[in-house]
Amino acid sequence: MKFEILEDKPNYLKILIKDTEPAIVNALRRTVLAEVPVMAIDEVYIYENSSSVWDEYITHRLAMIPLKTDMKMIPLPLTEENQASYSVTLTLDVEGPKTVYSSDLHSSDPKVRPTSGKIPIVDLLEGQRLRLEARAVPGKGEWHAKWQAGLASYQMVFKVDTTECEDKKACVKACPRKALKLDGNKIKFDELKCNGCGACKEFGAKVEEDRSKYIFFIETNGQITAKEALNAAIKILLAKSKMMESEIANHKK
Ligand code: SF4
Repeated sequence: MKFEILEDKPNYLKILIKDTEPAIVNALRRTVLAEVPVMAIDEVYIYENSSSVWDEYITHRLAMIPLKTDMKMIPLPLTEENQASYSVTLTLDVEGPKTVYSSDLHSSDPKVRPTSGKIPIVDLLEGQRLRLEARAVPGKGEWHAKWQAGLASYQMVFKVDTTECEDKKACVKACPRKALKLDGNKIKFDELKCNGCGACKEFGAKVEEDRSKYIFFIETNGQITAKEALNAAIKILLAKSKMMESEIANHKK
């Protein structure tokens, strides 16, 4: 399997994966969605809440705040047994009148903090107070959406053969994605632009899926970078394959 990075931004990655098959790419996609761990608030102790909002409502809001995550501290693959090996405490003590934002949370680990300080939690009026302590732990998207690191998807790549196109100019013009370009008497094809729509078929082109190549996308919520999500997904898949290998080797007939 070969990887070619097409776009590389902190929270977004677009990769061309070659010499592979759909099952492998789909396993990678599902691992990013369900198994790559990030930190999220899981327990909240409310000492004082004289706002007009219930404790449960505030707790839910806190849990959904994306937290920057230090991947070096999280065991992979994460399980219910090793989940408690790492936790961070966040405290909040605010008096009104004021809108309480995620930036008002103080973390025991500076590497674990809200990805944005501008997420509103609650409005406090004159004399109202919110004082609480929260515990953030790592978790996986398959346990709860608050632990989902981001989104992952893939797109098929197509092979287009234009050798039998009689009206080459019309064939190029028909392509809505500008994947075809006239070069003298030949047509140049850009596989990264084609979405397989088939509009060029009307002019004699042959379009078919290339089942050995896929364009893979990852977009994270800011807790970890897209590259960290990809690396973690690969490590998890490798660890699971090794576990399966040793289970088979230890199986007694
Ligand atoms: S299949 Fe569609 S996008 Fe691809 S080259 Fe043909 S017309 Fe363009």
